[in-house]
Parts: sequence; structure tokens; C-alpha cells
Amino acid sequence: MSHAPDWDLVVAGAGPAGSIAAREAARRGLRCLLLDARKFPRLKPCAGGISPRARGVLRRLGLWDKVAAAAYEIQGIRLGGPSGRETTLVGAGSAVVLDRPRLDALLAAEAVAAGATFHDGQRVLGAVREGGRVAGVRTDAGDARARWVVAADGANTRFSTDPRPRHVLHSCMAWFAQFPFRPHVLQMFFDADLAPHYAWLFPEADDRVNVGLCVEADRHTGTPIREVFRRFLERHYAAELSRARPLGEWRGHPLVVTDSIEHHAAPGVLLAGEACRLVNPATGEGISYAMESGRLAADFVADALRDREAPLATAKRYERSLRWHIEPGLRGGELFRRWGIRLIDPLVRLGQNPWFRKWAKQAPVGES
Ligand SMILES: Cc1cc2nc3c(=O)[nH]c(=O)nc-3n(C[C@H](O)[C@H](O)[C@H](O)COP(=O)(O)OP(=O)(O)OC[C@H]3O[C@@H](n4cnc5c(N)ncnc54)[C@H](O)[C@@H]3O)c2cc1C
Repeated sequence: MSHAPDWDLVVAGAGPAGSIAAREAARRGLRCLLLDARKFPRLKPCAGGISPRARGVLRRLGLWDKVAAAAYEIQGIRLGGPSGRETTLVGAGSAVVLDRPRLDALLAAEAVAAGATFHDGQRVLGAVREGGRVAGVRTDAGDARARWVVAADGANTRFSTDPRPRHVLHSCMAWFAQFPFRPHVLQMFFDADLAPHYAWLFPEADDRVNVGLCVEADRHTGTPIREVFRRFLERHYAAELSRARPLGEWRGHPLVVTDSIEHHAAPGVLLAGEACRLVNPATGEGISYAMESGRLAADFVADALRDREAPLATAKRYERSLRWHIEPGLRGGELFRRWGIRLIDPLVRLGQNPWFRKWAKQAPVGES
């Protein structure tokens, strides 16, 4: 027996993809339920870097001012290449860092303010299927039936039907207080040991940083990622760590990356964010793609319900739209992952060149 759906849209997962999907759907007048397995605010292992691309998405959503007001501004980069050389370049602010407990709580609150219902601490167990389509979700508190589902439950999604092998990066990160660093300058080290990926230090406040790395899953077969991270910390930050105070445990989380859009939707369900692998294969950037796909998913659901479009047609149009808006960035990332590491040392040498520094109005090397 089939029941009338309780909701127009159920969104599984309240990361950036899910909260933006719920907010935009509620703003379009849909009855929307947003579910997250964890109680908010919750920790998500992530450096919290809001890239220029993410800033553009937030601007278009009308959320940039709120995020920027809570975030820490970045005005420069200390860049290390595979040769061990490094340079620091500073300039106008182009990115910000906001720790994920605060970013995600802010975006979920925006969804609620727009009219979505948010149940945190409610785990989605899988899809309710009916008549050849997804018709809601099963949760640990019972079924929630819906006309559409947006699956935004991250790297370990329960909704993907993508048969392609997963391309996974491994990560490990830690947070510190009293860690000496140059304020408003982030740090990236493309060590030979990590190539083609890198390690970072992202300042979250004048007295708090996160430090981490990501590498191909098979980059250090047999060596635990924590050991790779320990060696990195020893190489770069032995002096700083003798003064710093660790905040909490080291954390790891898989990054599921791709450079092509496939299998991202099916009748009744649109996948958004990392649930459909929308993470840059070179940089690991995923917040901008998550928010953008969440917004697109909400728009496509709202249009489909308004126009009574067949679910398969909606799914196909959504996939085409992801290809148009998001795939080029992922493809660029894949090119950089394959070839970009060769550019880092020449870039560092340019950054060290006194003529370039004078022209770019940078302090001479060694001064800041
Ligand atoms: C170490 C690390 C550093 C990173 N740094 C950056 C960075 O600086 N900048 C950047 O842009 N990207 C970064 N990323 C990538 C970024 O974190 C992700 O791409 C982004 O969080 C994806 O957003 P999302 O909303 O799709 O999924 P998530 O943010 O993973 O959110 C998924 C949500 O779903 C919930 N959930 C999971 N399973 C269930 C379930 N069964 N039922 C209900 N809820 C569920 C989770 O609790 C979570 O809240 C980093 C990733 C890692 C691992």
C-alpha cells in the first residue's frame, strides 16, 4: 500500500551540500526535512578553507557576509616545493578559513531560518523504494516518505549506485593552540614524500591552527597515515610543536574524488557533494562543489514538482547541469594532479627572485 509523502524533500546529511539544498528548497516553498546522524555542532575533519570559488558560491547564495564575519581572513601563502625550497607571498585577501563545526552549524541554521525542519542525531539507514523509484528514507526513528530525496551524506554515502572504483585520498589532521605562525598566512608544502598532494597549515584564528595532509590511498602502502603525518610534523614543525598545545585528537577522513560526473542521480534521488564524489582530485577542495550541487539539486526538485516532470527526466537534467557547472573544475584538478607538481618549484623560485619580489611589492626574502 502506498502512503502520501510526508515531505516534498528529505535531505540526508547536513554538511554544506545538505544544508544548502534544504535552505534553497525551503526558500522555494517546499516542505523539507533535513536529517543528520550527528548532534550539532559536530566535528568534521576538514581544514575549513573557503576558497575563492566557494566565496563566489556563497555570494550568489547571499551568505558570504555571514560566513566572512565568522571566518579568519587569509592574505598570503607560504609555499614549499618538492625540492625543499620555499617562499612566502602576501597580498589582498582572497580566501577565508572557518572551522567546520561553526560553518556547518551556520548553514544548518540558515536552512531552519528558511523554513526547513532539522532533525540532528537521526541516522538515515537507506532509501525507501517504491514503484521503481526512491520514495523517502529509512531512519533509526522510522521512515520519512518524500516526493524527492537529496543524498548529501558524504564520503560514505548509503545512496550511491556508482559502479566505478572509488578514487580515495587518505588524510590526517590535528588542531593546535599557541602554535607560532605568521598571522593570516596559510602554509602549503608539496613535499616529494606527499606528491602529487600536499600538507597544509590553515590558521583558524590568531591563536589556533589546523595542520594536516592528504595523499593518494596507495602512496604509502604499509605505512599508517598517522606515521606519514608524524614524519611531516617532525620535518617542518619540530620547533613550533615544542611550544604548541594540541587541541583534541588527530583525525583522519577519506576524500572521495573524481573528475567526471556519472551516476549522480536516479528517479527520486539526487546525490550532492561528496556523496557523488564532488571533490577536486588535486586540492581536495569540496566545500564549494558541495554547496553548488546542493543548490542545483534543490532547484531541480522544486522545478520538477512545479512542472510535474517525470523523475527520470529530472535526474538526467540534474546530471547534465552538474557536468556543465562542476565538471570543468574537477577536470582542471585532475590535470593539475597529473602534471601540476612540476610547476611548484619554478613558482617557488620565482617567489624567491628579488626582482619579482620588488615588482610584486613583497618584502625581501628573509624579512616579513
Ligand atoms: C582532512 C580534510 C580536509 C579538507 N579540507 C578542505 C578545505 O579546506 N576546503 C574544502 O573546500 N574542502 C575540504 N575538504 C573536503 C570537504 O571536507 C568535503 O568535500 C565536504 O565536507 C563535502 O561536503 P558534503 O556536504 O558533501 O559532505 P560532509 O561535509 O561530509 O557532510 C555529510 C553529512 O552527512 C552526515 N551523515 C553521514 N552519514 C549519515 C547518515 N547515514 N544519516 C544521516 N546523516 C549522515 C554526516 O554527519 C555529515 O554531517 C577536506 C576534507 C578532508 C577529509
